[in-house]
Amino acid sequence: MALVCATAMNNQPIVILPDGTQRTSGRNAQRNNILAAKLVAETVRTTLGPKGMDKMLVDSLGNVTVTNDGVTILEEMHIEHPAAKMVVAVARTQETEVGDGTTTAVILAGELLTNGEKLLDQKIHPTVIVRGYRLAAQAALAHLEKISTPVSLKDRKILERIAGTAMTGKGAEAAKETLATLAVDAIAAVVEQHEGKINIPTHSIKIEKSTGAPIDGSELVLGIALDKEPAHASMPRSLQKANILLLDTSLEVKDMQADAKVQITDPKQMQAFFDMEEQFLRKVTSQITAAGITFVACQKGIDDLAAYYLAKAGVLAVRRVKKSDMERLSKATGATIVSDLQDIGARVVGHAGAVHERVVGENTMILVEACTNAKAVTILVRGGTEHVVEEVYRAMTDAIGDLKATLESGRAVAGAGACEAALARAVRTYASTLGGRERLAVQAFADSFDVIPRTLAENAGLDPIDVLTELTAAHQKDHTAGVNVDTGKLLNAWEQGIIEPIKIKTQAIQAATEVAVMMLRIDDVIASGEPPARGEPETD
Ligand code: ADP
Ligand code: MG
Repeated sequence: MALVCATAMNNQPIVILPDGTQRTSGRNAQRNNILAAKLVAETVRTTLGPKGMDKMLVDSLGNVTVTNDGVTILEEMHIEHPAAKMVVAVARTQETEVGDGTTTAVILAGELLTNGEKLLDQKIHPTVIVRGYRLAAQAALAHLEKISTPVSLKDRKILERIAGTAMTGKGAEAAKETLATLAVDAIAAVVEQHEGKINIPTHSIKIEKSTGAPIDGSELVLGIALDKEPAHASMPRSLQKANILLLDTSLEVKDMQADAKVQITDPKQMQAFFDMEEQFLRKVTSQITAAGITFVACQKGIDDLAAYYLAKAGVLAVRRVKKSDMERLSKATGATIVSDLQDIGARVVGHAGAVHERVVGENTMILVEACTNAKAVTILVRGGTEHVVEEVYRAMTDAIGDLKATLESGRAVAGAGACEAALARAVRTYASTLGGRERLAVQAFADSFDVIPRTLAENAGLDPIDVLTELTAAHQKDHTAGVNVDTGKLLNAWEQGIIEPIKIKTQAIQAATEVAVMMLRIDDVIASGEPPARGEPETD
């Protein structure tokens, strides 16, 4: 039945929406949306912090992921509710902008909505709440800047601790120190500085996964690890001072000539044709050897015959190299990627100190090491099983993201709930300078920060009320006091090395505020019905 939206004077119903449309409005719409968003926050809540639990996700094909990573969980859940999706988007943005802090952002958004709803129940108009929230967010961001500490590339210890904090509570924790050192070394190898501005091209850091060794068997290769085998069995397995050619065209005869049809009527012609092929490949090979090239990475295929000639000439070649690896190779070795075989020559050649084959876990890899400008590196993450390696991989990505965020913004703050407790206090103080109903909204915003230390305590099996009371009291004089999740007492988070980039927090606050504000302002949800089946004429 069509939705009846109004009744005209003559009692005739007026229909303005098509059949199948569902509509909820007013408080109901708000309540439903907020509930859905809170459910999302509730789902990831137990994973927050070093004592957070993991989730086991099973997809429709039966693949299993065990993780503690907020965004991974939410992505795998394929959430459908429109409001819940908006919260998932918060996690996704946090992931792309910072790479860590996804759970924090989602929990904060959930709490802002919970507290916002309480105000709605007190008949405070959404517009007032929205204004209060915006003011409070500004105050929080300003205070955050004040309590942050500058960190630069020279502060190695702090950087290692930031990497370590990112990995706490993940499967990688056991080998946190080794992994943190690797992450900082990797960053230090690829960092670029222009006029005092730091840029970390994280795409220059490749993280390669391999099972079969303990996590602390992970290592950093100053260069690139290719998960490839030589194109021919008799190729050299180890090269010193390699000259490198990067090809993004195939070394196959069929691709080398125009798309012509060859009609063969005589067996002799057949032979002539093969000879021509052979000649062509010989020519290319001699071009390659004449340029002194000893290693060829080809993004496309390499003909067996071509591989044979290359092997005979003592050239190591690998086929079907990923595009991203080609780009990394180009960056690291200074080689130009060549798409026309005519261009092969000394000009386009790159250099590496060594190229050699190595067995890593169950795979053979080709390592291109000691490159001219080692502006591309590979972290080989190891672990006992596939699931462990996957989780270590995610932890490593978080650590790299955090280091990048720290160095690019140049500031860090104390974690373990310290920074949130400091913000709660600052925003409460700010609220006391305001009057009227806005004050209540700002207060609600301040209270929302408490959810982080409270959840850290809860997840560690501690009494959240005790911990929060103590923490709030300690923050009268010390803005680095945080939750000691082992003892239930407090600790100095900065001194204990629980340190996070300021960007995790600014991004989380901004995104959580935006989604909360957006949701509080919605008072009408109009969902259209099923789209008409294809081929069926639309009715109007
Ligand atoms: P997110 O997805 O938000 O990064 P995490 O599970 O990584 O979630 O947890 C991050 C939270 O854990 C931060 O608030 C951080 O300060 C806190 N944390 C990290 N290490 C410790 C620690 N050793 N003790 C207490 N809290 C910690
Ligand atoms: Mg984290």
